[in-house]
Amino acid sequence: MEEVLSFEDLNLNTPLQNALDDLGFSKPTPIQAQAFNPVASGKDLVGIAQTGTGKTFAYMMPILRHLKYSTQDNPRVLILVPTRELVVQLVDDIEKLAAYINVRVLGVYGGTNINTQKQAVAQGQDIIVATPGRLFDLAVSHVLQLKSIQKLVIDEVDVMLDLGFRHQLLNIFDLLPERRQNIMFSATMTEDVDQLIQSFFINPQRITIAVSGTPLNNIKQQRYNVPNFHTKVNLLEYLLKSSEEFNKVLVFVAFKKMADMLFDELEERIPGETCVIHSNKTQNYRLRSIEQFESGEHRILIATDVMARGLDIDNISHVVNFDTPNYPENYMHRIGRTGRAEQEGVALTFSTENEKEALSAIESYMNMEIPIVEFPEAVKISDQLIREERPEIKERNNPTKRLTEDTPGPAFHEKKDKNKKVNLGGSYKRKISTKYKKPKTRGDKNAKRRKKR
Ligand code: AMP
Repeated sequence: MEEVLSFEDLNLNTPLQNALDDLGFSKPTPIQAQAFNPVASGKDLVGIAQTGTGKTFAYMMPILRHLKYSTQDNPRVLILVPTRELVVQLVDDIEKLAAYINVRVLGVYGGTNINTQKQAVAQGQDIIVATPGRLFDLAVSHVLQLKSIQKLVIDEVDVMLDLGFRHQLLNIFDLLPERRQNIMFSATMTEDVDQLIQSFFINPQRITIAVSGTPLNNIKQQRYNVPNFHTKVNLLEYLLKSSEEFNKVLVFVAFKKMADMLFDELEERIPGETCVIHSNKTQNYRLRSIEQFESGEHRILIATDVMARGLDIDNISHVVNFDTPNYPENYMHRIGRTGRAEQEGVALTFSTENEKEALSAIESYMNMEIPIVEFPEAVKISDQLIREERPEIKERNNPTKRLTEDTPGPAFHEKKDKNKKVNLGGSYKRKISTKYKKPKTRGDKNAKRRKKR
């Protein structure tokens, strides 16, 4: 790919260039340079980039560059974000970038008077920035027509899915025209995000921006082979007790349930030193946990990938990957939490046999092997397995039957009413059977034939 060095290389128009000059931006950030042409070309795009990389302008510059002046009422660009704070911030950013462009931008979010927003929508808009719930309410009330949307941007999609907005997103997709450009930004890849892309994106181009300002050589990476959850707990307990150097330890786990399980174990073994955050905890609980960790009151913080996002905590001595992340980008984000500001940080990864594949994905992404540390003899190896680690029990003689908990749930999203109909056979037959309370056919021809004989 040709290297983009300046905004001139992006062939921006004068109004955009003037706005960037006013903002004092001299050159595009890496994500801006890489995303410009794909977004401008109308292709579906998935960008893996954190806040702070300039991702908002990465999609807004090409969108504004090609959005034609219009007086039509229905919006043509829809941007979805998980929180109202982000709506406000985004509208503000877009207005700055569009300072010299005649474009109508409106932010809508829940928790405020919907009627005021309805009036604003009715005045006609070009770009709507919204949280999913409020957008859906406005759309079903028919004030907001989504049939003219040409570009859909979903920002911070991993947070959105983690906060449980999946159904709302799918409901919104149902109201959008099928022919549209999908643009998505996420700081991390998760199974949920991947599933969403597979289902709704058409051959998307992917762009990944590594965590900025994280020189890998500032971080000492090491890994342990560990057979299972309980042994991982034993190892973590041993390490935490073995050295005073473990003074600010951020422990990453894959699931909320595992975060809670690990928290309970550590509370029992080293009481009063651990706090935990994940999206099922209340806002107050999360804030308290972060405060306790930041102030040094508690030296261990257990977090899921998504929840650790907004954290900007200095002097983290160790990042522990209690599980090996499935996506290399997440590994990079996790370890980037330590080793900041020229200080050396340590990143430890625990991997089981089942996590070997994820590990080699990470190693090939970094183009290096993570040095392995010998498992300490003093640590007890447990043979007890948690439910997730036990082999699937198959019914004898029926190896294909699934366990109830593995049975897929209802369809990925709620079917439209017209698709819920069940094929009951010919309508004539049904009419007759309701009328005569029993199925009527034109008689049993074979019976007649048998009589004749
Ligand atoms: P974002 O990742 O979109 O939240 O942007 C992070 C910050 O970088 C925002 O405050 C932007 O105003 C700023 N920013 C965006 N693009 C540039 C650029 N090309 N040069 C310098 N700062 C930028």
